[in-house]
Amino acid sequence: MRWIIISLLLGVYIFETVVSILNQKHSLKPIPMNVRDVYDSEGYKKWLAYSLEGHRYSLVQRGFSLIVLLVLLQGPFASLDRWVSLQIADPILQSLAFLGVYQTLMVFLGLPFGLYRTFSIEERHGFNRTTKGTFIRDTIVSYVVTLAVGGLLLGSIHALFLRYTNNVWQFVVITWASLAIFMVLVVAFLGKWFMRLFNRFTPLPEGDLRARIENLGASVGFNVKAILVMDASKRSTKSNAAFTGIGKTREVILFDTLLERMSDDEIVAVLAHELGHAVHKDTWRLLARQVVVMGLFAVGIGVVLQVPAFYTAFGFSDVHFGFATILFSILLEPVVLLLGIPLNLLSRQAEYKADAFASGQTDPRWLISALKTLSRENLANLNPHPLSVRLYYSHPPMSERIGALQG
Ligand SMILES: [Zn+2]
Repeated sequence: MRWIIISLLLGVYIFETVVSILNQKHSLKPIPMNVRDVYDSEGYKKWLAYSLEGHRYSLVQRGFSLIVLLVLLQGPFASLDRWVSLQIADPILQSLAFLGVYQTLMVFLGLPFGLYRTFSIEERHGFNRTTKGTFIRDTIVSYVVTLAVGGLLLGSIHALFLRYTNNVWQFVVITWASLAIFMVLVVAFLGKWFMRLFNRFTPLPEGDLRARIENLGASVGFNVKAILVMDASKRSTKSNAAFTGIGKTREVILFDTLLERMSDDEIVAVLAHELGHAVHKDTWRLLARQVVVMGLFAVGIGVVLQVPAFYTAFGFSDVHFGFATILFSILLEPVVLLLGIPLNLLSRQAEYKADAFASGQTDPRWLISALKTLSRENLANLNPHPLSVRLYYSHPPMSERIGALQG
C-alpha cells in the first residue's frame, strides 16, 4: 500500500514535469502566423524569459511540496495523530486539529515561494503591484477562510461518516448530496463573497462605454448593474474579465487593468464574449459537471475510508478520517489530471461558442484585437504544447481562438 501511494506521487510529479519540459521546448518553435504580431522582438524575448522562469519555479515548488509530503508520510503524520489524540478526545475535533496543523505547516512552508513569486518573478517582469501589507493581509485572510470553510465541510463529512459507518453507500450518497449543495453555494454565493474579501467592486463609470454596454446587455436581457469593475490593479498589472454567479447572482467582472489598457471597442467585444457565456448558460453546464465530479469524489472518499491497510501502512492503528483526506488528495491527483481532459475540452468548446456569440454582436476584429492585447499585456504563451493544452487549458490557445474568429 505504502509503495502504491509513493509511486503515485512520484509518477504524477514525473509526468507533469515531462509535460512542462515539452511545453517549454515547444514555446521556442515559430509562433503561428495569425498571432505573430502580438509580440515585437523585445516583447518576444520578455515572454520567453518569463515563461522559462515560471517553468523553473513550478518545477522547484512542486518538487519541494513532493519532498515535504514524502517526509511526512514516513512517520510524522502518525506521530501527529498520536499527539493530537492525547490532547483531544472528540474524534471530529481530533481530525480537524490534525488537518489544521498540516494545513498550517503547508501554508508556512509555502510562504517563501509565494513571496518569491510575487516580489521577485512578477516584480522583475513588471507585473507586480502588491504591497507587503496586501500580501500579508491576503495570506492571513485566505488562511482563516480555508480553515473555517474547510473545517466546516470536513467536520460535516466526518460526522456523516461516524453516523453511517456501517453503511458505506448511504454515506457516499449523503456525502455526494452535501458536496453538491456546497458546490451550488460556492457558485452562487461563496465564490462572490470570497472575492469581496480581497477586492472592491464598483459599477461601470457613467459615459459612452457604459451606454454602449447597457445597450448590448439589454439586447440579451442582462442587467448592466451586474457589470462590475474590480480593483485588480491593487495586486498586478495583468488584466482579465470573468463571469461569476448563477441565476439572479450572475455578474460580469471586468478588471480595472483591462479598462486601462483596452479601447472601448475592445472592451465591448470582451463584454459580448462574457454575455455569450450568460446566454449559453455555461455556468449551469459547469455546475452540472461539477455535481457529477462530486459524485466520483464521494465514491472515492467512501472507498478510501474502507481500506484499513492504507492507514496501517503509514503507522496509524486504524482508519483515520483526517489522514484519509490527505490520502484521498494524493489518489485524486492522477484522476484530476485525467478528468481535466474531457472537462477542459468542454470548457474550450464553450469559449469558442462565446467568441462566436461576441462576433455576432460586435465586429469580430474588435475581439481579435482585444485577445491580442490581453496576450501581450499578460505575456501569454502563444505556442503551448498540444498535450499541455489537452490537460490544462480551459481556454483554447490564442492562435486557435483567433483562427476561429477569422473564419
Ligand atoms: Zn470565456
